[in-house]
Amino acid sequence: MTFEPGARTAWHSHPLGQTLIVTAGTGRIKLWGGTIQEIRTGDVVSIPPATKHWHGASPGSSMTHIAIQEQADGKTADWHEKVTDEEYGVVAPAPSTAPDKNSRAQQLFGEIAPKFAELTDQVLYADVWERAGLSKRDRSLVTVSALIAMNRPDQLRSHLGLASKNGLTREELVEAITHLAFYSGWPSSVTAATIAKEVLQPTK
Ligand code: MN
Repeated sequence: MTFEPGARTAWHSHPLGQTLIVTAGTGRIKLWGGTIQEIRTGDVVSIPPATKHWHGASPGSSMTHIAIQEQADGKTADWHEKVTDEEYGVVAPAPSTAPDKNSRAQQLFGEIAPKFAELTDQVLYADVWERAGLSKRDRSLVTVSALIAMNRPDQLRSHLGLASKNGLTREELVEAITHLAFYSGWPSSVTAATIAKEVLQPTK
């Protein structure tokens, strides 16, 4: 089955689950309540039974997959609503008009600079970080690398935490610090390693 760029299924579920084998291109899949995952040629994806999800092409690339699913009571799928552009990740969620008092930016400096905190939330986090052109994981790697290179320990501390949430492992972040020692200077990487030791828990 081939999806042209931008095409995707509606939300649906399979009573006995589904296995997708991506045979060409780049696509996306999202499970209900989860985040959009990129899938590429060669990827094999298992979708659990009775789990609402969608799959399709990337906005800028077609994607072909083989889909394997078994019938239960003569049925292979239950179909639900269409996937909106926002759910597909090509439109940023509408920014809320009222500043969110619990946001990271509001808590850090909202009291002294409320408008700057609002712009940070609505433009930086809600618009730039939500853009579909780079995954949040990749955006975190870019941001963390810049903060290491510029020797900004305070912002690095909070962005290392965010990077873990966005799917970068402790080992990958430590590797980035090691790599950058050669490009942005030993002292910057020493600072970063100290912060990383504080913030990142060892994987068990
Ligand atoms: Mn499916």
